[in-house]
Amino acid sequence: MRTVGFIGERAKKQSVIFTIWVCLLLILTVSATTLAVAVERSKPKKLRVVVDAGHGGPDGGVVGITSGVKESEINLEIAFLLGEFLSSAGVEVVYTRTTDGLVSDDVDAATMKQKDMAARKKIIDKSDAALVVSVHQNFYPAKYRRGSQVFFAAHSEEGKKLAAFVQKPLNENVNSETVGRSFSPLAGDYYMVNCTELPSVIVECGFLSSPEDEKLLLSFDFRRKIAYNVCCGILNYLSDAQISA
Ligand SMILES: [Zn+2]
Repeated sequence: MRTVGFIGERAKKQSVIFTIWVCLLLILTVSATTLAVAVERSKPKKLRVVVDAGHGGPDGGVVGITSGVKESEINLEIAFLLGEFLSSAGVEVVYTRTTDGLVSDDVDAATMKQKDMAARKKIIDKSDAALVVSVHQNFYPAKYRRGSQVFFAAHSEEGKKLAAFVQKPLNENVNSETVGRSFSPLAGDYYMVNCTELPSVIVECGFLSSPEDEKLLLSFDFRRKIAYNVCCGILNYLSDAQISA
């Protein structure tokens, strides 16, 4: 009986030691998890922006009234310049397209545009980005219409705010010189601003129906100037959004 009692006591001791170990292990695991969460929280989230060059491939968009230049080509060049400015400011850039082709491989004229738009939306949905900016050129039957203007989705308060931030430097540094006036950003019913809950804007950089705007858009310096000012607007929006957060 004493032997049994001794064994029982030893088993009891071992059980207590085991319980202490389990408790210690639990404390360590909880501490490690808390630490990991704290480190994760203190790590600043890398800002990411989707840069979309409108049109591409068989869908060239509008055409320059004098030179016949395709909107899709100018869009892509401005998108790259914008991406470079954003990257140099430490912002990660996700391009919807980096070649002159469409984003979707579909070449069936009947479904091409729809599939291309859906492919762009898919990239935006997967991006985990802070915002979307789509680069386009405008066209109007009257040649006198000129200037850079930003569009947003009517339902999106953040889109409207982003549009105001992007329009401001365009007004101050581009429109003031080219047309001597400012434009207000406008609500527009366009797929690229409606397809996402992210703040999304379309920048119509200039009018390819205006010989003056077309000439400017064909120059590298002007395209760079547009990209730089759009970048400034985006950075101001991001910094304002972070301060308000
Ligand atoms: Zn366009």
